[in-house]
Amino acid sequence: MTPIIRVDHLRHVYSAGTPFEKVAIDDIHLDIPAGQFVGIIGHTGSGKSTFIQHLNGLIAPTSGTVYFDGQDIHRSKEATRDVRFQVGLVFQYPEHQLFEETVYKDIAFGPKNARLSAEEVDERVREAARFAGVDESLFERSPLELSGGQKRRIAIAGVIAMEPEVLLFDEPTSALDPEMINEVLSCMKDLAKDGMTMVCVTHEMGFAREVSDRVIFMDHGVILEEGTPEQFFTNPQHERTKAFLREIL
Ligand code: ADP
Repeated sequence: MTPIIRVDHLRHVYSAGTPFEKVAIDDIHLDIPAGQFVGIIGHTGSGKSTFIQHLNGLIAPTSGTVYFDGQDIHRSKEATRDVRFQVGLVFQYPEHQLFEETVYKDIAFGPKNARLSAEEVDERVREAARFAGVDESLFERSPLELSGGQKRRIAIAGVIAMEPEVLLFDEPTSALDPEMINEVLSCMKDLAKDGMTMVCVTHEMGFAREVSDRVIFMDHGVILEEGTPEQFFTNPQHERTKAFLREIL
């Protein structure tokens, strides 16, 4: 079966040809079958964000190819735009994705852009809000005046409302207090249980171990090691993986 996402010889160089040139991603290959939950871990600066932003076409490869459903996501401008609807990305600080004056409008932004009817938009908004744990009593409030945890759930609802086939998360719990971390993680667990294909960059090792079908360790722009959570956490192979786990666990 065609993997829903295929990454082939992916390389990304920032500021190429300048004194600031930086190889952020160096020759990554990865096939992600539909329904898989991939946890990505690694040190700051190892290329995790850069990598994940390639999967919905937000960043274009310097060389190599990203395929969605067997097709190059950069084959045309329209194709790259369409992939943004099919592969949803929740940023590290998703509250920066909120910019409408009400919670309802914010969650409705994606479906509206996809030119759905008002009824379809409404249905999507209510369903996504329910899923992400956003109470309808908040719909007319400004997202900016809500708590950090609520803002994240609104941002997640906005991405879910597009009904993407794949969800990407870039450290969705960073800078939240423990209670809010649990709220966001439990929403993600529900999505995973529902069979959503997900790729999540995280520093939450307990979560990565519990929810991932596959854990990937990135180091200096490459996938140094990967495995099932069981293999990965109990029997890491590389010295650098072992050192990382000793540091973080
Ligand atoms: P991570 O998500 O693992 O922290 P990043 O993908 O953010 O890693 O960064 C990988 C490398 O690329 C780092 O050395 C970082 O400094 C560099 N980098 C990231 N974004 C940019 C950018 N916009 N311009 C130049 N260098 C960048």
